[in-house]
Amino acid sequence: FKKLSLPKSSRDELYIMGKTFNNMMDILRRNFEKQQQFVSDASHELKTPLTVIESYASLLKRWGTKKPEVLEESIEAIHSEAVRMKEMTEQMLMLAQSNEQGDLQEEEVDVVHLVAELSQRLEHAYNRTIKVHKEEENITIVGDCNKLKQLLIILLDNGLKYSEKHLDVSLHKKPKGVTVSVQDYGIGIPQEDQASIFDRFYRVDKARNRKSGGTGLGLAIAKNIVEAHKGTLTFTSVPGEGSTFTIALPFHIKQDMPKKRLKRK
Ligand code: ADP
Repeated sequence: FKKLSLPKSSRDELYIMGKTFNNMMDILRRNFEKQQQFVSDASHELKTPLTVIESYASLLKRWGTKKPEVLEESIEAIHSEAVRMKEMTEQMLMLAQSNEQGDLQEEEVDVVHLVAELSQRLEHAYNRTIKVHKEEENITIVGDCNKLKQLLIILLDNGLKYSEKHLDVSLHKKPKGVTVSVQDYGIGIPQEDQASIFDRFYRVDKARNRKSGGTGLGLAIAKNIVEAHKGTLTFTSVPGEGSTFTIALPFHIKQDMPKKRLKRK
């Protein structure tokens, strides 16, 4: 910029614009690489059930009409792999929609009511007990009700999937928002896996999770939803003893905006 015969203030401006442009390109490049990685991981994950479906369909074509046992086994396998693919594609869609803060509906949500409703629903579905501990009858925040439902279902569902005892769900009203903890007394998460469990498609035990239908996308979706609401999602886990996942959500998605504006002035 020094070679340009421009006043210093214009050169400074050009320099800042150049820097901003480079930073933007870096962000775009990183996002593009992330997308590429996601497409490659997703294709890989979808290929496994597709391969199973394809091989059973070939078996059916060859033996289906002649061997009833082949017919039965193939239909069963094709059906369960198709269900798995459907769940995976639904979760991929959910993941894509979960990190856009701009897309969030802003509505009043009573978190105590939501937790009670979903706990009851999952208690019936799993035939297990979920104990809800609350200090207040209502804690209202502003957020996207559907996404908060997805978030709570993911954590409750995991708690039930990876344990055999009851769950304890605790709600606390804090000065700036609400915390919800989901505690299970199940298998826990090995220390070496703890850093990766929020990664897309990450499963601690792929073989076991294939049977229980895990996709490895639940916690990635949960983290995106919490972060879109400007909250945090943390956990503690002891293998063989259980895990506690804690969501902290502010009362309002935009509650920290006025402070930022003040600082800039
Ligand atoms: P999945 O669909 O496989 O449950 P998640 O993204 O929800 O995918 O979780 C990622 C992995 O983290 C799971 O496969 C499981 O190994 C581990 N995990 C998640 N929640 C728990 C829990 N409450 N107890 C033990 N392991 C868990």
